[in-house]
Amino acid sequence: MAEHVVIIGSGPAGWAAAIYAARANLRPLVFEGAETEANRVSGTLPLGQLNLTTEVENYPGFPAGLLHGYIRSAVAKNRVETYLEPLHEHQHAVTGPELMNLMRQQAENFGTRIVTDDVASVDLSQRPFRLTTLEGKTHEAHTLIIATGARANYLGLASEERFKNRGVSACAVCDGALPRFRNKPLVVVGGGDSAVEEATYLTKYASEVHMLMRRDVFRASKIMQDRARSNPKISIRHFREVDEVLGDDKSGVTGIRMKNNREGGTEDVPASGLFLAIGHTPNTDFLKGQLALNDKGYIKYTTLMRTYTSVEGVFAAGDVADDYYRQAVTSAGTGCMAALDAERFLASNGL
Ligand code: NAP
Repeated sequence: MAEHVVIIGSGPAGWAAAIYAARANLRPLVFEGAETEANRVSGTLPLGQLNLTTEVENYPGFPAGLLHGYIRSAVAKNRVETYLEPLHEHQHAVTGPELMNLMRQQAENFGTRIVTDDVASVDLSQRPFRLTTLEGKTHEAHTLIIATGARANYLGLASEERFKNRGVSACAVCDGALPRFRNKPLVVVGGGDSAVEEATYLTKYASEVHMLMRRDVFRASKIMQDRARSNPKISIRHFREVDEVLGDDKSGVTGIRMKNNREGGTEDVPASGLFLAIGHTPNTDFLKGQLALNDKGYIKYTTLMRTYTSVEGVFAAGDVADDYYRQAVTSAGTGCMAALDAERFLASNGL
């Protein structure tokens, strides 16, 4: 039997869609992603990018407080033990993993079914739509909500590829606490909010953090810029790009050769890690040729203020269709919209 609503993706957009669809008695099926090493390296594990961040200070409804009691009472014990322990017992803003586990639990409480696998391909040329998972299982669906988000970009240097997992990372929160980075100088590339967040996080472990920016200005919000400038462990280096990641097979990364793109010349800085925070690529590879995408690969919305895509019955939500706002709360908002759009589509087609 074809599913009424299948949701692909498990960030805020996916769970918001699931909560709404489940409460409309549509018994949504969520593909939350596979827990594979390939997904770990590319930053596409279940629960999305928010699961890779520290505190989320701007999600409405979560002012900093003593959240541990609430989380222990709201989230299934086995998930708390596996994914959230040790919980912060002090006053804090909700963390990305806490928020995502709360959303997942809320969706499950209303009857959402969850499959821990990737959707590898879709056939949108037939109805019901047909999906094939990484494990090779097929499913049919009358409506699809695509909420697969985006993943972190890399620079594309051969030396960067060589040292991935041995000092090169695009996720400070995942890797920053590793022994190889303790009390060592580190380099962060990028000038956006993510770069400031990563650099600030890394100062907990590193002896110093160099932030390399290719221009003379940050892209980050004012409050985040101030945070970077006032942190004594962060040194801000404008007009600098990575020329090469230095290292050897035994030690992994040992330094970064920076080029000065204004005055020319290179300079080597000792570093045991390189962290990239240079934007994102949407996770739409499995949709190519099936759905209209823009030139950057994001799903195109076809109607203003609706989550409609180029295929009727397929809706998009969150960062996979948004390279502009990219916030947890905007993703959750479009997830809600997609579920309402799917519900109306099903009703108007007698499904
Ligand atoms: P972003 O705002 O697009 O910034 C990307 C940064 O990487 C820019 O400084 C950009 O430089 C640089 N960059 C891109 N390609 C590069 C390359 N090949 N070499 C060197 N530098 C390169 O991305 P983001 O920081 O990931 O933020 C994405 C969204 O999430 C934003 O809307 C942000 O507000 C939000 N966010 C918010 C928070 C928060 O509020 N706490 C935290 C994280 C993210 P140029 O400026 O020169 O292009």
